[in-house]
Amino acid sequence: MSFVVGLTGGIGSGKSAVGNLFAERGIAVIDTDALAHQLTAPGGAAMPAIRAAFGDAVATADAGLDRAAMRTIVFADPSARKRLEAILHPMIREESERRLAGADSPYAILMVPLLVESGDYRKRVDRVAVVDCREATQIDRVMQRNGLARPEVERILAAQATRTERLAAADDVIDNDGALAELAPRIEQLHRSYLASAARFG
Ligand code: ADP
Repeated sequence: MSFVVGLTGGIGSGKSAVGNLFAERGIAVIDTDALAHQLTAPGGAAMPAIRAAFGDAVATADAGLDRAAMRTIVFADPSARKRLEAILHPMIREESERRLAGADSPYAILMVPLLVESGDYRKRVDRVAVVDCREATQIDRVMQRNGLARPEVERILAAQATRTERLAAADDVIDNDGALAELAPRIEQLHRSYLASAARFG
């Protein structure tokens, strides 16, 4: 895959909604968050290493990751997060590369929630597209989607890059403060420009 667009945005900004619109246009969309879930699902490729590192208590009865148990461990011991990431991140990266290599669309979208925070992925992509909305909008959406209380959502936002940092890293900004219907024309416009760039890249 010669032309790769990194798609990012804060939690609840609308990355999945945007990813769907590119997928509808026949573009390969690789979602690193979804890959992380697959790797830690029952029978997932990361589970043996995670059990070896943290014990059987982090596995559910069907041998997937017990997310609540893992969250408790990581909350109590920040070095545990690093160990978990040391297992997961190379596997996510490798699977992303495998899928990019196998993608047969003119360009590909690599969806990385923490792209701006990660030097590694920033170097991997040819362009950075940021889904942007006001923080108040993010908070409302995530409270509704995940059934979380406002302080919990505010804590998640505080751990991510700020809106300003993300916008500073953007080659393309996708405004998603309006209605969902307003997204499609913007994605169509970007899709055309990415097709033209991909053709130039050869
Ligand atoms: P992300 O993948 O960035 O976390 P999602 O695409 O899942 O965000 O969007 C978060 C939530 O907000 C979802 O429930 C989605 O359906 C909803 N949503 C996304 N964009 C809009 C919009 N423009 N208007 C209303 N709801 C939206």
